Amino acid sequence: DRGGNVRVVVRVRAFLPREIERGAECLVDMDPISQVTTLLAPDGHDPANRKATTRKVIEERSFTFDNSFWSHDPQDAHYAHQEDVYNSLGEEFLDHNFEGYHTCIFAYGQTGSGKSYTMMGTPDRPGLIPRTCQDLFERIEAAQNETPNISYGVRVSYFEVYNEHVRDLLVPVVPNQAPYYLKIRESPTEGPYVKDLTEVPVRSIDEILRYMKMGDSSRTTASTKMNDTSSRSHAVFTIMLKQIHHDMETDETTERSSRIRLVDLAGSERAKATEATGQRLREGSNINKSLTTLGRVIAALADPKANRSGKGGRGKDMVVPYRDSILTWLLKDSLGGNSKTAMIACIAPSDYDETLSTLRYADQAKRIRTRAVVNQDHIS
Ligand code: ADP
Ligand code: MG
Repeated sequence: DRGGNVRVVVRVRAFLPREIERGAECLVDMDPISQVTTLLAPDGHDPANRKATTRKVIEERSFTFDNSFWSHDPQDAHYAHQEDVYNSLGEEFLDHNFEGYHTCIFAYGQTGSGKSYTMMGTPDRPGLIPRTCQDLFERIEAAQNETPNISYGVRVSYFEVYNEHVRDLLVPVVPNQAPYYLKIRESPTEGPYVKDLTEVPVRSIDEILRYMKMGDSSRTTASTKMNDTSSRSHAVFTIMLKQIHHDMETDETTERSSRIRLVDLAGSERAKATEATGQRLREGSNINKSLTTLGRVIAALADPKANRSGKGGRGKDMVVPYRDSILTWLLKDSLGGNSKTAMIACIAPSDYDETLSTLRYADQAKRIRTRAVVNQDHIS
């Protein structure tokens, strides 16, 4: 099958109360026609007068992505609701899953930029994960009524990478007991996987949403100066979809298996920006390890030399440092292999430095090509 580029979209959130209080200005502009996102120079930094800025020259920057979601001002005609994000990305990715492709959607951005809001959302405004679960079971129910010769199996897992450890989010936390960490193994056929990870079969929307909430509430959070409720972990929600199709005419049975990965990354800001100390600093530096490695993996994959088709395959694995962190090792397939992949770059409206860094990161990710294939087997 033909390779495809990683789909990269950007979403800007509304001001938070604390930003309104300090009279923050919106530094982001999006053109709904061209999809160009512009990061404006903050007030007092005139790009024409470089002497006015001391060390750094702050300028206006423009980037083009596959989609730009303007979720800054709900009064605006172009405001992107949770539903709009699902309709223009989640729905299409679910189509691919039914066709038999693996997919991965990951949210990147600084703490407080809207990653969890975009992926999980709130009870009133559900995000990509609950909408995907809902749509998945609605489609299965509709198909079962129309085509009795297809049967479906859905399983779900949910884990987090915290402090370079993998923790099963579907195992209840036992108070006063040290957390239990899982190990990573690599299988020649399936690639890297988490050993002994809970994978529960689910049969209904209610059931899958119950596991989603259970896992979400056991996600590790530690308060930092930047955002009290920010999570310093990478959360990976995975749905395995199996479709068994029996062809009445040929009497052949085929099985399609696809994996839906939905990833909420930890905050991309440097650990020192939170002025964290002690335990948290150590966690911060480890989280940086997964994120800096992700940055190096993306840089290596975005390198045109890595994109050569054919004989390049072997060399590519040798130069891409997947195994340098837990996260990149586990997401290897999603980043540079058999998967259709999208990145949602979440940005805050008034943070020039962090937003520029996120937009540059996202810009690089656009150059990555993956090689998704339909995962189908004849079983009889
Ligand atoms: P992150 O997961 O990146 O740290 P959150 O998703 O927790 O950030 O978002 C930070 C805050 O901003 C939360 O209070 C969240 O509800 C709010 N928020 C984020 N994105 C939006 C949005 N598009 N519309 C409304 N509120 C948002
Ligand atoms: Mg979050």
